[in-house]
Amino acid sequence: MLGVDDVAARLGSIGFRCRGCGACCRRVAEDSNLVLVSPAEVRAIMAATGMAWDKVAEPYPDFIDTGNGGKYTLAWCLRRTADACIFLRDGRCSIYAHRPWICRTYPFMLVDDDLGVSECPGLGAPLSPCDARDAAADLCRRQAAEAVEESGIRAVFHEASVPPGKRAVIDSEGVKVLDG
Ligand code: SF4
Repeated sequence: MLGVDDVAARLGSIGFRCRGCGACCRRVAEDSNLVLVSPAEVRAIMAATGMAWDKVAEPYPDFIDTGNGGKYTLAWCLRRTADACIFLRDGRCSIYAHRPWICRTYPFMLVDDDLGVSECPGLGAPLSPCDARDAAADLCRRQAAEAVEESGIRAVFHEASVPPGKRAVIDSEGVKVLDG
């Protein structure tokens, strides 16, 4: 796993400054810019907005057959309108202080020992060592949070059963059977 200093050095050499264009919050294709959220992130947004779970998040759209007529998926995503995240209002994030890790760290992600970089018009802009370190620390915290969620899902998955004919999301909190 990369340390904060290594990540900061890489970020500094790539460069980045958010232009506030909101492009990363928009749906440019069916599965583009999906924002995966953990149960803890959904609950933080619910607490901040007063919205119900199903108004904040929807199941990750790729369902897997259980073999008994049921289907499951392993993640939640922020809900979107036909063209953008529901929290994008007047071109700005309306839950900025509570935005999930994916939004907080865009356009970067850590996958094991690799730094992934998504398309973004802000890439290449000068990034100060201090800002690079802050961004790197966030990326490392995100990676740690994702590891905790993944291990929670594995623990639940081990014992999970989806009722025949039903669809469910299996997350670190349990098996959540969906209506309809
Ligand atoms: S939560 Fe905010 S930053 Fe994240 S996709 Fe939605 S509007 Fe954009």
